[in-house]
Amino acid sequence: MRFKADEIASVIQQEVEHFESRIDVREVGRVIEVGDGIARVYGLSNVMAGEMVQFPGGVFGLAFNLEESSVGVIILGDYLKIQEGDEVCSTGRLLSVPVGDAVLGRVLDPLGNPLDGGPPVLTTERRQVESMAPGVAGRQPVRQPLQTGIKAVDAMTPIGRGQRELIIGDRRTGKTAICIDTIINQKASGVKCFYVAVGQKESNVASIVEILRRNGAMDYTTVVVAGASDPAPLQYVAPYAGCAMAEYFMYKGQDALIVYDDLSKQAQAYRQLSLLMRRPPGREAYPGDVFYAHSRLLERAAKLSDALGGGSLTALPIVETLEGEVSAYIPTNVISITDGQIYLQPDLFFSGQRPAMNVGISVSRVGGSAQVPAMKRVAGGLRLDLAAFRELEAFAQLGTDVDADTQKSLDRGYRMTELLKQGLYKPMSVIDQVLSLYAGSKGYLDKVPIKDVHAWESGFLQFVREQRQALYKKLTDSNKLDDDSIKEIETAIADFQKSFAATKSAVRA
Ligand code: ATP
Ligand code: MG
Repeated sequence: MRFKADEIASVIQQEVEHFESRIDVREVGRVIEVGDGIARVYGLSNVMAGEMVQFPGGVFGLAFNLEESSVGVIILGDYLKIQEGDEVCSTGRLLSVPVGDAVLGRVLDPLGNPLDGGPPVLTTERRQVESMAPGVAGRQPVRQPLQTGIKAVDAMTPIGRGQRELIIGDRRTGKTAICIDTIINQKASGVKCFYVAVGQKESNVASIVEILRRNGAMDYTTVVVAGASDPAPLQYVAPYAGCAMAEYFMYKGQDALIVYDDLSKQAQAYRQLSLLMRRPPGREAYPGDVFYAHSRLLERAAKLSDALGGGSLTALPIVETLEGEVSAYIPTNVISITDGQIYLQPDLFFSGQRPAMNVGISVSRVGGSAQVPAMKRVAGGLRLDLAAFRELEAFAQLGTDVDADTQKSLDRGYRMTELLKQGLYKPMSVIDQVLSLYAGSKGYLDKVPIKDVHAWESGFLQFVREQRQALYKKLTDSNKLDDDSIKEIETAIADFQKSFAATKSAVRA
């Protein structure tokens, strides 16, 4: 057998040329210091900011601080397993999570690992946890409503698909409840929901998952959890991870909703990491770029242009205040990033006005253009009327005698505020809301005793649904309130008033 020398030479040359790309070239460094969720690593001179690095035992970390002679890494897992001197490998990959239909119905940690005892999430696609928000040209104004099913919100601070609406208030004022109701209300709308729980007690999250499951909402919802006992790095990345999962649907041309519960705790986790990394502290000891941490997250919520498929991601960030202090650092930051805020107030909450929305200072800057026409028509003057009522009420509490007109406004106001109270997990369809707000704001409830307002409301809605089916269908199909429909609604109210009065007097007799 004879060898051709130049053939062999060319084969060897080829082998040499491709040598490097075949073997896995990864840098290996060593841990020089570890503790409190962070590690300082020596020897990873080519690592990228935000790159995943791997510790022994399969624990991953994220390159956070690139310094002259070392790299600060935040550890996304149990840092107690890592010791000084351990080997650390770079991976050449940025942090990513599994995305796709397979994440729906699951409870996951911020890396996409199951926490619900189910099988691993198998998807063909992954998305980087940090990604660029769509630019100005890739967006369009919101135009479709995202119904929360809560009368006070849908009427006075309407939310559009692609909007960012902040829910802000002290602790235990019903912030989470509004978001859970909104998720439950998406059952028929096809909006995919994501609930990101940051720094909450595990038992709390478990009961939220249970509520979602019982209301049939887990079919289209993913819960991403970084609990209070999880290390700060996981609490910091959880919102971005949830956003990546939700974004997938937006870029597919679908609609998604994401709740960040809450961003104050995420900011605290970020502050902890930054201080440990010796980044200079700024106002309230937060690092100077905490604004950027929130703005780059919330900017990813958008209504995409038709050219990009027209999908949307609506964000409901939650921020907790201390003693109603909205001018603290994190609240002002997030207020300025979002398109409006729903402000929940403890005194309203404790007086039984739930949801405890302060109508005067809650706003939605863009959602009005997405409100359905029927709702727009009945909700038009509602905010102003209620604000006027609050002033009158304060005045009337002084015990002064009021004239008949004022008394009439007061009566109406008491009924309207009663009507705007809404129990937990009872979202209402938009037409039901329209019918009930129409009746209240036109004064048809002025003579109904306040304690009977809710009975009147549910009776009336049932009456329309059962005995005015054509009208109900017309309203649900068109979502409009024309003059004919208004006439029909008024006769329906008149008919129902008679039977309601009859049953009430029968009860009394
Ligand atoms: P935290 O600060 O603990 O996160 P939060 O502001 O998220 O609290 P929720 O947990 O939503 O508040 O609600 C606090 C309590 O108030 C809960 O027990 C909840 O059941 C009750 N609650 C909230 N909204 C309503 C409502 N509309 N009707 C009746 N009860 C409500
Ligand atoms: Mg809460």
